[in-house]
Amino acid sequence: PNLHNAEFLRSAVKESDFPHDPLPQIVFAGKSNVGKSSVINKLLNRKNFARVSAQPGKTIHINYFTIDKAMYLVDLPGYGYARVSKAEQQRWGALMETYFAMDLLTLGIQIVDIRHKPTRDDMTMAEWFRASGKPWVIIANKLDKIKKSQLAGNIAEIRQTLLLPEEVPVIPFSAEKGFGRDEVLDLIFEHVCG
Ligand code: GDP
Repeated sequence: PNLHNAEFLRSAVKESDFPHDPLPQIVFAGKSNVGKSSVINKLLNRKNFARVSAQPGKTIHINYFTIDKAMYLVDLPGYGYARVSKAEQQRWGALMETYFAMDLLTLGIQIVDIRHKPTRDDMTMAEWFRASGKPWVIIANKLDKIKKSQLAGNIAEIRQTLLLPEEVPVIPFSAEKGFGRDEVLDLIFEHVCG
């Protein structure tokens, strides 16, 4: 697929909003501010794509993008924002329940911050992916913010905290510098094209 042919499709909040056709769905998740939009923009080589295409709204929703009519890029709502209410947390959980119950996921891509130990919310998100039984990868973003000497230790901490099975790769990434882009694109194409 040609990644440049990316278009916003719609925001989904309930079952009937979700595409149920057989196109692969590549799902991005991450804590607010982890750089999810930046990672998506870097992968697509677009500027401000993920952000401007999505309507900013108060409701928690899942944004669907089509890539060259060959796959869906699914942008899950950012989680773990410091001041969200209990009600919003419940809406987030209910939306995850709806999405994962439909079994539409092809490949899960969870973005964490390579500088820090994953949070409880990261652990919760990891549990959704693990329970789905679908392939899943971790992007450890903001690689440009750590020293080379910290890399191995930080990756090990991410693996341990998220209780990652051996087959789940952790890919050091920098949306700022483009590190890791080719590796992630290879993985996506592998899961989309067989
Ligand atoms: P989102 O809320 O997860 O979509 O996060 P954004 O994409 O808006 O990024 C949050 C902040 O982190 C912005 O100020 C970005 O410029 C910054 N950021 C994202 N990725 C990187 C990265 O790889 N390295 C550095 N240094 N900053 C980044």
